[in-house]
Amino acid sequence: MTETTAADEIRVRGLTKSFGDHPVLRGIDLTAARGTSTVLLGPSGSGKTTLLRSLNVLERPDAGVVGIGDVEVDFASLPEGKAGQREIARLRAQSGFVFQSHNLFPHKSVLDNVIEGPVVAQKRPKDEAVADARVLLEQVGLADRADAYPFQLSGGQQQRVGIARALALRPEVVLFDEPTSALDPELVGEVLAVIRDLAEQGWTMVVVTHEIHFARKVADQVLFLDGGRIVEAGPPEQVLEAPRTERARQFLRRIL
Ligand code: ADP
Repeated sequence: MTETTAADEIRVRGLTKSFGDHPVLRGIDLTAARGTSTVLLGPSGSGKTTLLRSLNVLERPDAGVVGIGDVEVDFASLPEGKAGQREIARLRAQSGFVFQSHNLFPHKSVLDNVIEGPVVAQKRPKDEAVADARVLLEQVGLADRADAYPFQLSGGQQQRVGIARALALRPEVVLFDEPTSALDPELVGEVLAVIRDLAEQGWTMVVVTHEIHFARKVADQVLFLDGGRIVEAGPPEQVLEAPRTERARQFLRRIL
C-alpha cells in the first residue's frame, strides 16, 4: 500500500492536520490505483472526513503530499500567495466531492444544477455541458427528471443529482463523504447502487461510509482509521473478516 507506482491515481504521503492544538491526521500514507474504490472506515472522530476533505483541499493540510493524477502538491513547501493558490486550484480540480447532503440550488432545475459547475466555473460551452449532463442523468437513473426542481425529488433522487453534479466536472477521482447517512433507510439502496455502477464503470473513488455490505462488495481496499492514523489497510475480506487490531475488531463487532 505504501509503494507508489506510476499507475497510482491517488498518492498521499505524510499528511498531517491539526485543528488548534488537536492533531486530527497524524501522518497518513495511502495510494489508490486508477479505477479502484477505496472505503474509509473507522469510529466517529477518527479523521475520515478530514482526510477526504484534504484530498479536495476543502481542508488545508498542515504538511504532507497529496497527488491526484498528474497534479501533486507538497503542503509543507507550498509557495505563498497566488502561486500556492494556483497549485491548490489545480489539485482541487482533480476531484469531485459528493457531500453528505446534496447542497443543490433550490431555485434551479436538475439540469441547471448539473451544468452550473461546467458552465460557470469551467467556462465550458453550454450546449456541450447540457449534452454531458443528460448522459450523466441517464447514468444516475434520472433522465426523465431533468426539468424537475429539487423539492419535487426524494432525498435519494436529490443525492443522485449531487453525484451527477460532481461527475459533470469531469474529475479524475470522485470523493464521497457518507453519501447515504442523511437519507431515510429505504432510500439508501438506490444511491449505493448508483455508486456501485460508477465503480464498475471504472471511476476511481474514495468513499467514507459505515455501509459494511457496500464496502465488502465494492471496495478494492478498505482503510481503517483510528485516532488520525490508518491502522488497517487491505482488501475488504482481510480488513473486515480478519482485522489485525483489537480496535478494528471492536468497531466491526459494534456495527455488524
Ligand atoms: P470522522 O469523519 O472520522 O468522524 P472527522 O474528520 O470529522 O472524523 O473529525 C476528526 C476530529 O477533528 C474530531 O475530533 C472533530 O471534532 C475534529 N474536527 C473536524 N473538523 C473540525 C473543524 N473544522 N474545527 C475543529 N475541529 C474539527
